Parts: sequence; C-alpha cells; structure tokens
Amino acid sequence: MPELPEVDSYRTGLAPTMIGWKIKGGKALWKNASDADFSSIINQKITGFDRRGKYLILNLDQSNIIIHLRMTGRIDLTENETPKYTTVEFDFYNNKKMCLVDYRKFGKVWIVEDIEKIVGHLGIEPLSKQFTSKKFRLMFEKRKGTLKPLLLNQQFIAGIGNYLADEILFRANLHPLRTADTLNKKEVNELYLSIRHIIRKSIRFGGTTFLTFRGPEGKKGEFWKKLQVFRKTGEPCPHCKRPITRIIVGQRSTHLCENKQKLHKNFINIK
Ligand SMILES: [Zn+2]
Repeated sequence: MPELPEVDSYRTGLAPTMIGWKIKGGKALWKNASDADFSSIINQKITGFDRRGKYLILNLDQSNIIIHLRMTGRIDLTENETPKYTTVEFDFYNNKKMCLVDYRKFGKVWIVEDIEKIVGHLGIEPLSKQFTSKKFRLMFEKRKGTLKPLLLNQQFIAGIGNYLADEILFRANLHPLRTADTLNKKEVNELYLSIRHIIRKSIRFGGTTFLTFRGPEGKKGEFWKKLQVFRKTGEPCPHCKRPITRIIVGQRSTHLCENKQKLHKNFINIK
C-alpha cells in the first residue's frame, strides 16, 4: 500500500520528466475516481511536484492536480496507450499519457486552485523542520489513545501507514497496544527518532513494492528487503530470534516481537 515514501518516490521520480508538459485533456474512466472539471486545465503546463502526507500534488500554471493512490493505485506514464485498470487519464501534447492505474479503484483525483481544500486536514509532515522532538512531545502530551492507531491517524502525523507504523514501533521497542499516556520521556523521544529514521530509510531505498505499487518507469523500491517485522509472522526476530507475531489492532494487521516490544499490564487502560 503506498505510504509517504512510495508517494515521495513518484514526486522525485516524475518531476524531472514531466515538468513543462502541456495538458491536452483528461478524463475519469471510472466516474467515482474523480468529479473534477478536466476542461479547466487544458493548455496548462506542469510547473512543479509536491507531496502532503500520502497525497501527490502536481502544480500547474493556474491550478493543481492532486492524486491519492489509496490501496492499489499506481501511476503509469505511457505513449498513446491506456493500461488496463486505468481509472483516470491525462493526455499531453507530446503524445504521452499519465494514467492512474488502480485495480481496486479506490484512488482519487482532484483538480483545485486551493490545495488546502483537499489536504488542509492533515497533521504535521514528519520530515519537516517544524517536526522537532520538542514539538512531538507537546503533540504527544495531550494524547491517551493506543499507539498504533495514533501513528496511523493522518490528522496527527501525515503519511504513516501500516508498514511504517509496525517498523517504527519495533525500532522504538514499543508495543502497538500501549497507550500514549504510558510512555516516559525517553520512550517518547525514541518514538520520535524512529519515526524520522524509518521514513527516511524507506525513502532512501525507494519505498516498497507491495501489491501493484511500482516506482516511476517500473523501477522497484528496495525497502521491502529492509523490513524487520512487517508481514514476517513466524519468522525469527532480527534481534532476539523469537518468532514475529501478528495481532489485530484497530482492525489492522499488526506485526511485532513480543519480547522486544513488551506489554506490561499497567501499560494499557490505566485510567
Ligand atoms: Zn525480538
């Protein structure tokens, strides 16, 4: 599932190729994927790429295209052909197409002048300068909820999904069922460092390649080789060799080492 690093690899991968391309038209082949007015962007050029959380943003002369890949979406650049499972396509004057290819069809495309209308609800960017350890401590102080759902909450921090959350909690020695108000200062800081470390590392390796995700031009992300616990149920923990276990937290499949990420009974529901 595309999370922050996968979307970021589209941003950095597509920008050098696509900046300057002029839009000839576009349409939603699957009507639920977009209700945008595609005629409004005809003859506009792509001027830049950006990302907020898991949203990819293409800046145009006077507007923006925003894409959310959701579960199985990917972006293909093609010449004249429309790949199977394309839900939205954009055509350019150089005869290229940019297609949202999405087997499960949950991905969405918006065309807006004001980006905030779509991404304004998102929490802080975890790699931004504003996201300091002090800021995180302040954000964290008011929270009482379970750690894993809190990390997945896009209004808390933007861009973390299921695999990043499992890897972050493993690195920080924190059980996914711990509640935020049971962490001491050192643990909060360790969680902060792990968020930054895991996301940066995944970006460095180009993200993962689960499901249909592919990097730009079919280049594959290599971070799946670096995963320590995610989808490794029954395999030995890289630290203590005890088997990785899988539990369900907030309806999400969750992977952990119960030896490294201990759960004392006073760690949950203390109030
Ligand atoms: Zn272990």
